[in-house]
Amino acid sequence: MEENVINGSDPILLTPGPLTTSPATRQAMLRDWGSWDAAFNRMTSEICRDLLAIVSGQKDFVCVPMQGSGTFSVEAALGSLVPRDAVVLVPNNGAYCTRLLKILERLGVASVELKFRDDEPASVARIEEMFRREPRITHVAQVHLETSAGLLNPLDDIAALCSRHGKSLIVDAMSSFGALPIDVSKGGIDAVISASGKCLEGVPGMGFVIVRRALLEASAGISRSLALDLYDQYAYMVKTTQWRFTPPTHVVAALRAALDQFIAEGGQPARGARYRGNCAALIEGMASLGFRPFLDAEVQAPVIVTFHAPRDPAYDFKRFYEAVRDAGYVLYPGKLTEVETFRVGCIGAIDANEMHNAVAAIARALSTLQVRLAA
Ligand SMILES: *Cc1c(COP(=O)(O)O)cnc(C)c1O
Repeated sequence: MEENVINGSDPILLTPGPLTTSPATRQAMLRDWGSWDAAFNRMTSEICRDLLAIVSGQKDFVCVPMQGSGTFSVEAALGSLVPRDAVVLVPNNGAYCTRLLKILERLGVASVELKFRDDEPASVARIEEMFRREPRITHVAQVHLETSAGLLNPLDDIAALCSRHGKSLIVDAMSSFGALPIDVSKGGIDAVISASGKCLEGVPGMGFVIVRRALLEASAGISRSLALDLYDQYAYMVKTTQWRFTPPTHVVAALRAALDQFIAEGGQPARGARYRGNCAALIEGMASLGFRPFLDAEVQAPVIVTFHAPRDPAYDFKRFYEAVRDAGYVLYPGKLTEVETFRVGCIGAIDANEMHNAVAAIARALSTLQVRLAA
């Protein structure tokens, strides 16, 4: 972590993507690449190989990269892998689950929403009950880590359930990929989606879908979108080694560098351990100031923490945000509709020292703004 603590005078982003990247990752963007360059296309294929290995997908899965932010890859996956006459169950405990429902609606694919509270993990028993009540359900679209509160859903149990019932499971693992264990070789998962600029600590600009090869190969012609056609992107890449349309070359080069650092750090177990350390330091420091996390510890993923906002009428998120940012740390607004909250990310090229410093900056901001926390 030695080099990562040196981030110059730029503020530290405590946001779940874009996030603070290492100097080596930023350095990798200083060179221009041509899209015909064999070395560039080799870089893409090596990235795909390394991404497959992170989720043990080498045998039966392929990795298809896609230009754009994470949502572009989610929309590409749903639009290219889910046939028009499918019925998709979406267990919903937050804004990113709601986004899945919106995408399905735009695609004209029938969906069934299964509502949970913002602080309640998706329940396997209730999903199974839905399968019984709605036998037309063919697919499940599941957010692994609901970033809007920081909530972890029980992916392994849901995958085992889908496997038992013969449902196709598509997972939005945007903010968990690389930090939390995901193993597609155990069965039950057909596709996993993530992006460059989250726990892999690259810069934003591309996503990827890790999909069962047989499923993708049977999906020609499903996509109604030209640009977001996962099958076409894959087929073109197999044929030519190139991206189908202009690749985000600097983003790809940065992801290569970020993956080299990910592997050198010790892969997913080490990345997850560093984030757990960050998360524990954050929650402990914030508790000493009087802040309470919104989620119970057992369902809190070590990626982003939602805190209850101070009740003091002197508190205003915008002023609080600005005071903390001036001290060098960028916070994130809350994304819950019912309670006033704010969020602090614990991912990126940062360690527990940064979390201690962020807590100190928050304490100073509260005192400058004369905001008191209830005892
Ligand atoms: C970040 C994120 C996305 C994608 O958001 P973009 O703004 O398009 O990058 C999707 N799902 C989850 C769970 C996320 O955390």
